[in-house]
Amino acid sequence: MTQITPPRLRLRRPDDWHLHLRDGAMLDATAPYSAGFGRALVMPNLVPPVTTSAAAAAYRERILAALPKGAAMQPQMTLYLTEGTDPADVTAGHADGIVRAVKLYPAGATTNSASGVRDFDKVRPVLEAMAAAGVPLCVHGEVTDPAVDIFDREAVFLDRVLEPVRRATPGLRVVLEHVTTREGVDYVRSGGPDLAGTITVHHLAINRNAMLAGGIRPHYYCLPILKREVHREALIEAATGGETQFFLGTDSAPHPDHAKQSACGCAGCFTAPITMPLLAELFERADALPRLEGFASLHGAAFYGLPPAEDHITLVRRGEPLVPPGRIDAGEETVTVFDPGFPIHWHHEEA
Ligand SMILES: [Zn+2]
Repeated sequence: MTQITPPRLRLRRPDDWHLHLRDGAMLDATAPYSAGFGRALVMPNLVPPVTTSAAAAAYRERILAALPKGAAMQPQMTLYLTEGTDPADVTAGHADGIVRAVKLYPAGATTNSASGVRDFDKVRPVLEAMAAAGVPLCVHGEVTDPAVDIFDREAVFLDRVLEPVRRATPGLRVVLEHVTTREGVDYVRSGGPDLAGTITVHHLAINRNAMLAGGIRPHYYCLPILKREVHREALIEAATGGETQFFLGTDSAPHPDHAKQSACGCAGCFTAPITMPLLAELFERADALPRLEGFASLHGAAFYGLPPAEDHITLVRRGEPLVPPGRIDAGEETVTVFDPGFPIHWHHEEA
């Protein structure tokens, strides 16, 4: 019998530049699935949101307590920008190494975003202080105007909000989170060195047909919402093309199954357990495996001014597909793990 060595891919430990870990039992249950990332930028949309450096430091401790012993992950904390955010607290938190970035949610845009910004003039002093101190602003790039169609909200946000904000605050470093459209990709491409974009694995893997054709699939419902195939193709091009302004931010967002499978279901896909195998599958299809390390491990760290990881992970391609945990327990709840609907042949190599 001939033993054929399966293809292997060794890359510097990846970072996840957009992650939801929640709190309490949900945090304890889901954080271990992200423990293999080096750095993870943790979103602040708890109830109540994380709005001060002190709250971010306390949340960081709770995350560290929820991670398995010896976990690689170093949580990178964000503050939730509100119209009452104190510029001095942001810059002091950043100088102390507690605050990595500030997150902008337009009021009402997504899960727990009611405290978000309505009037940008009110946050101008914070944005100016952030520009001066080099603190990036991470943006949920969708307008919340009910008159704008949900599939157009990202594209409209670029013209109506992001461009004016960036013009008004020169030098502000901005990450357009979870880019989902061709317009978003083009905007990031043309934005110069102070602008970057994160891309999720679910927006790379499926288009809106997966969510809506042949029955509605609530576990594919996320915000920004899945778009047409032409947009998914633009994202694949951006992620796999080696352009340094694009990097991984999974937006992995656990919700209890009863809240997803409901007459008014929550937005979010829990992708953390399969992120890297699924990415390898997608990069292989695009004939771009050598560029996976840039997207997942190098570009994001460089944008945030951090050194690349010193250690590595290995992915291995096997004949038999990955069998992800279909559903995990979180206290009294269960959470369904994202399933792209096609086989994933890449696996984390057991140590
Ligand atoms: Zn998110």
